[in-house]
Amino acid sequence: MIECIFTIDYEIYGNGEGSLRESIYEPAEKLIETFRKWNARFVTFIEVAELEMIEAKGTDLAFDLVKQQIRNLYREGFELGLHVHPWWCNARYENREWVLDYSEYNLCALPMKRIIEIIGRSIAYLRGILNISDFTPLSYRAGHLLFQPARIVAKLLADYGIRLDSSVYKGGLWHQQKLDYRPAIRNGYYWRFTDDTNIPDPEGVLLELPIHTQMVPTWEMFTGKRIGIQQRGASAIQATKKTLSRVKDFLRLRRSLKLDFCHMTINELIRMVDMVIQEDREDPRSFRPIVAIGHTKDLLDFETVESFLDYLGRKGIKIRTFEEVYPKCT
Ligand SMILES: [Zn+2]
Repeated sequence: MIECIFTIDYEIYGNGEGSLRESIYEPAEKLIETFRKWNARFVTFIEVAELEMIEAKGTDLAFDLVKQQIRNLYREGFELGLHVHPWWCNARYENREWVLDYSEYNLCALPMKRIIEIIGRSIAYLRGILNISDFTPLSYRAGHLLFQPARIVAKLLADYGIRLDSSVYKGGLWHQQKLDYRPAIRNGYYWRFTDDTNIPDPEGVLLELPIHTQMVPTWEMFTGKRIGIQQRGASAIQATKKTLSRVKDFLRLRRSLKLDFCHMTINELIRMVDMVIQEDREDPRSFRPIVAIGHTKDLLDFETVESFLDYLGRKGIKIRTFEEVYPKCT
């Protein structure tokens, strides 16, 4: 049995560019409308660190709209997950621009005291937004999907009552950040872990439901749609720098392609799901939850989202939240 979980990272651009109204509020509003029409729900990963700083410095007039939208999402059953870009936690606002602290890019690599501070502050902030003092999200997604080394963060999240992570993308590799999700390729559709996101541990403190991926030849990654979206929100110099720093990662013959409903064309989305359908035919008794990812800032093509929802419906694949799927994975 296959079920699909749509997740959306609710955030502006990672470098601090973009407005709340254009990069979050308006696209999220349209997505909510689309999902309501299909009587389906998605999981919203609220990036709390930027919201906290934007509110504190009063830099964006649409803040109250976003706050209200988060409350509406919660009320209507669009599950809220915790998402943290730690490089915002020390942010300064100078000459109308955000100066972010990239020395705190990977939460897992920070000293334990700082990790405790950031997670505590993030959960408290989310509770404050909702005005629910004991709210605990079920799920977590790491900033830039960096959940290695996992032991300290996983334990802390579990202590807070978080039960599930969705940061792993099988086959992922990023030399500069020492990220390597290649060993996870041999894992199933979900697994528990404690010390290492790649290593299944039946007694693990968190359940991993990875973002669905497929290994594809590198050249297939460079479709017009994907490149166009990646260039938005970054200057030409930034885009080149980013590409150069990742040359080693790009030189691989095969790369991990995420099931991304903002970046992919409808044909790519269908092709990837068809492979799971094929597996499911051969072994229909296994449960196959597949996690799709999107970002509010990349949401432009709602026609593709609708076609994808329609396709899943025709194939009898239900759209679920993590709350609905979690009990089936334990
Ligand atoms: Zn993010």
